[in-house]
Amino acid sequence: MQQPADYHMHTPLCRHAVGEPVEYARHAAGLGLTEIGFSDHSPMRQDDFDNWRMRADQLDEYVAKVNLARKEFPQLTIRLALEVDYLPGQEEWIRELAARHPWDYFIGSVHYVSDSWDIDNPAKLSEWKKRDAFEVWQIYFERLALAAASGLFEIIGHCDLPKKFGIRPQQDCTPLYRHFLAAAAKAGCAIELNTAGLRKDCKEIYPARSLLQLAFENRVPITFGSDAHAPAEVGMDFTAAVELARSVGYTEACRFHRRRRESVQL
Ligand code: ZN
Ligand code: FE
Ligand code: FE
Ligand code: ZN
Repeated sequence: MQQPADYHMHTPLCRHAVGEPVEYARHAAGLGLTEIGFSDHSPMRQDDFDNWRMRADQLDEYVAKVNLARKEFPQLTIRLALEVDYLPGQEEWIRELAARHPWDYFIGSVHYVSDSWDIDNPAKLSEWKKRDAFEVWQIYFERLALAAASGLFEIIGHCDLPKKFGIRPQQDCTPLYRHFLAAAAKAGCAIELNTAGLRKDCKEIYPARSLLQLAFENRVPITFGSDAHAPAEVGMDFTAAVELARSVGYTEACRFHRRRRESVQL
């Protein structure tokens, strides 16, 4: 079976990934993938915002690294992208980033539920103990809906990220999912099946089957991503991800070139 494109891969510029883009590309070619996309953590306007992303003055270096991988692996289609943090108020900065290079897509991700708490950061795990899980999920999905509606992103990243550490609310989250998916469907924004969740405490692809089922019913398109932070993670667990997508009804995924969407058969 032809594996779908891996659209979520990082580089060492974000300071918590290893391996050059050329090495990620080599691994992808070895697996028989035909298309990949680099989507490293985008810079913030303030470089000291946190310590897990490239600096704004490294954006050209990032593009050069991706272009080097393109040159070394001409048989691969290599897309140029970013995983952009969505925080309300950052829209203008994200538009500035968009104008700087010929991007193929932006993955919009919510990691921050406030300016100081990135919910997936293991260094801030203790924060979860001070908060009501459902309240965190509510804030998170409200932000995710704003991200989808903003029109700034082609894809929404790991859309049930709050489950990462295995902490889940007792309440039914379906209304939160529906609210987000309605925004995604209206804006024509895709979601990704992100296999990194299988490597975390939640031991589950992002998103969960129930959310993906609703996404399919709402005709929200999909992409696939390993969220690789090392070359060996490229394309990881894609067979399981494709199986999950098919099991809820998907027969197509999508790809992007210069921020335009095309459909591909799964
Ligand atoms: Zn990362
Ligand atoms: Fe992320
Ligand atoms: Fe990522
Ligand atoms: Zn990520």
